Amino acid sequence: MGKIRVLSEVVASQVAAGEVVERPASVLKELLENSLDAGAASIEVEVRGAGSALLRVTDDGGGMDREDALMALERHATSKIATADDLSSVQTMGFRGEALPSIASVSEFLLRTRAGSSPGGTEAVVRGGKLVAVRDAGCATGTTVEVKSLFFNLPARRKFLRSAATETSHLDHVVETVALAFPAVAMHYAREGRTVHRLAPASGTAVRVADLYGAEEGAQLFALAPRESGGLRISGLVSRPGVTRADRARQFFFVNGRAVENSFISAGLREAYRQMLEPGRHPSVFLYLEMDPREVDCNVHPAKREVRFRRGSLVRDAVRDAVESALREARAEWLRPLRTHVVSRFTPPDAARHAKPAATHQPELAPSSGPEARPARMVAPSAPSAESPPAAAPLSPALEEFRLIGGLSARYLLLEGSEGLVMLDRRAARLRILFERLQRGLREDGVAAQHLLMPAVFELPARSHEAVVANIGALNSCGFGVEVFGGRSLKVEALPDFLGDRDPQRVLEDFAERVLSAGGTRARAALAEDAARRAVASLAAEPSAPSDERVDRALVGQLLSCELPYCDPEGRPVMLQFSWRELDRKFGRT
Ligand code: ADP
Ligand code: MG
Repeated sequence: MGKIRVLSEVVASQVAAGEVVERPASVLKELLENSLDAGAASIEVEVRGAGSALLRVTDDGGGMDREDALMALERHATSKIATADDLSSVQTMGFRGEALPSIASVSEFLLRTRAGSSPGGTEAVVRGGKLVAVRDAGCATGTTVEVKSLFFNLPARRKFLRSAATETSHLDHVVETVALAFPAVAMHYAREGRTVHRLAPASGTAVRVADLYGAEEGAQLFALAPRESGGLRISGLVSRPGVTRADRARQFFFVNGRAVENSFISAGLREAYRQMLEPGRHPSVFLYLEMDPREVDCNVHPAKREVRFRRGSLVRDAVRDAVESALREARAEWLRPLRTHVVSRFTPPDAARHAKPAATHQPELAPSSGPEARPARMVAPSAPSAESPPAAAPLSPALEEFRLIGGLSARYLLLEGSEGLVMLDRRAARLRILFERLQRGLREDGVAAQHLLMPAVFELPARSHEAVVANIGALNSCGFGVEVFGGRSLKVEALPDFLGDRDPQRVLEDFAERVLSAGGTRARAALAEDAARRAVASLAAEPSAPSDERVDRALVGQLLSCELPYCDPEGRPVMLQFSWRELDRKFGRT
């Protein structure tokens, strides 16, 4: 007894209409979805000619008897829904009943299938939409669909296809998406006769990702602790902070097993990574959302992946919270190897020196010599900053747990930890430390300021003046004491303590320069608060004092007590870790 029904015209028209067959990749997507809907445990994909010459998908799913096989080739024939009501709760990938007939109408099409209960299989051949042959076929339970010469009867359409490389990358993406959505399904993908992926059934996403993209990339990912609230379940993987790409090729979002795009999900992700991403860089993210199907509308566009949520902001917040907490966790993980280092093995030769409590003064952050410093300026710390600022806490214990090997040019420090080599970017580290000091200062009792004995009064060029004036509130919240002093003049009475020995005019000129280069023509507009803080931090991070061991130790200690020590406020990495395993492998020792 067949199980496919032809949808009534009413139901069919309630299903958003649309072209299913846009390019080889969209055909492949439909065929794979059908295999998954049929309960396949193993799927083989073969493509030739970037999918235009041949697309073949073979599965070991439930298959079809002859009656169903023939009905499947009719428009609006589907086994998956019967009434319009079913539309709101549909759990299968396909339900429109138009993929197979659409594909068959623009190709040389072959369907070979056998239902488990049938004594034998059926083979149907369709050419440009015309059924040309139906015959018995000896085959295993399951289905093979072969699509040859796609668009052979639509030359205009064929011309619209992009280069083979582009179409191939779309095909690859479809295979990757399905592989990620269904890790338990075995897949074999061959292109032009060569195996691209051979994927064993995987126990979970992490294994599947490693099988797809390699163990090294897999090792850069962190699992989200699965969480559930308000009927929404989120799980998945995100890349370690600081590990990013120039494209979004490793961003996959799934809702109930279906790959989707949705602005609320993207917004949640953006909020979670705020401050951690350099412009133009993207984390790797594999997010799996599960919810009541009635909460999602998948019918926004039949071919596109966009979905609509009934409660979008709930989804956004849940994504943000899940990713944020994974990133926090990732940070703890990252630091663990540094902190568990055995002290006795690498006791630095000058242990006695740094075992003393740290000086309250932070030479690294307020260099008292160097080309920028002015000779013997008279500054008196204001009352609150006489106490040591929070960042000048005693050297972090973590500092003693790995060995400072030394500097690499003026830019980097090399550290040995129990897990391997760590490279640290000194400027990025300073930026992070200063930025967090500013933030902490704003949250707590203000940023430590140094009052100048003699206020400085000076003029700046018009654009610079405007840039400073537009941001005067932000500057003053960061420990500056700046006010407009008539006309184009500014009066500076205090500087943040870490800039205390700088020339106030130079400092504000530099600040204005940063505002102007960030804001372009909109320089008059005030920077966002975070951006202003980043700019102020960068004023002090800039001059790279020559490496000095005591200074470097202080820097590392301060960095490790930061909240987000692994990336600077722009999202660039501060520390890179090279594990022993990685080093050994590179040297061919394993
Ligand atoms: P839809 O997937 O929207 O129902 P399709 O045109 O893609 O429409 O497929 C029509 C019907 O053919 C499906 O509902 C299903 O019953 C059957 N079918 C298609 N592909 C397969 C397959 N690989 N294995 C088993 N049945 C299939
Ligand atoms: Mg389908």
